Amino acid sequence: MKFIGAHVSAAGGVENAPINAHAIGATAFALFTKNQRQWIAPPLTSKSIEPFRLNCERYGYGPAQILPHDSYLINLGNPDRDALEKSRNAFFDEMLRCQQLGLDRLNFHPGSHLNQISEEESLLLIAESINMALDRTQEVTAVIENTSGQGSNLGYSFEQISFIIEHVDDKSRVGVCIDTCHAYTAGYDITTPETFKDTFDHFDRIIGFGYLKGMHLNDTQKALGSRVDRHENLGKGLLGLEPFRLILNDPRFDNIPLILETPDETRWPEEIKMLKEII
Ligand SMILES: [Zn+2]
Ligand SMILES: [Zn+2]
Repeated sequence: MKFIGAHVSAAGGVENAPINAHAIGATAFALFTKNQRQWIAPPLTSKSIEPFRLNCERYGYGPAQILPHDSYLINLGNPDRDALEKSRNAFFDEMLRCQQLGLDRLNFHPGSHLNQISEEESLLLIAESINMALDRTQEVTAVIENTSGQGSNLGYSFEQISFIIEHVDDKSRVGVCIDTCHAYTAGYDITTPETFKDTFDHFDRIIGFGYLKGMHLNDTQKALGSRVDRHENLGKGLLGLEPFRLILNDPRFDNIPLILETPDETRWPEEIKMLKEII
């Protein structure tokens, strides 16, 4: 089964996200469980948790169809001790919120070394941060997203993600989300059946499809290997529709949330419809 949706608004409360997802014909959705531009949010209460669960049930969204995303402020590889602790506390809170909502995964960008420590040192901090969050929560998997490698952002190669996983103690609660725009701009071509096969064979060898817990389906404005992260609506950028046709017709991408983060939200209903039709 393919679960297809978009990163919908949770304005007014997390309970609105499944309603917004249903309204655009989505069978999956992503959301922020708090304001993504603030460090601190009031804790979730039963006033939000209960209607969230009810709305998910009403519209048929189970945990495998929902991919919460953490705040953009968090940097789990931050070389500064105080800043790192702030990020780790915020990440723990995000994991806890997912647990309270009955969700089983949290998507996050691994982190940045800020040109103050080596890539490897920062990757080790990220793994340690994940271990700390997993120790303090239950049932939620930490889902590492691949990045474009813009600035000092880590996680742009499958090897880096594999290195993080290697250093996570509980491998049953760590996973990966592959963003098509990020993969391409990080240098992984996926635009033809041959390059798509090579890239995902490489992914399977280095990380393994067993860890794949979600996908972000975005076209890109920027070139292969440019290491610049600019999403584009499907078929309007340099990827074209071929990678999406290949993903939608490949059983290795079954039963995980496939999430649009394309810039023009008004196109989401037709993009979701188009993706359903190319299966
Ligand atoms: Zn993404
Ligand atoms: Zn992006």
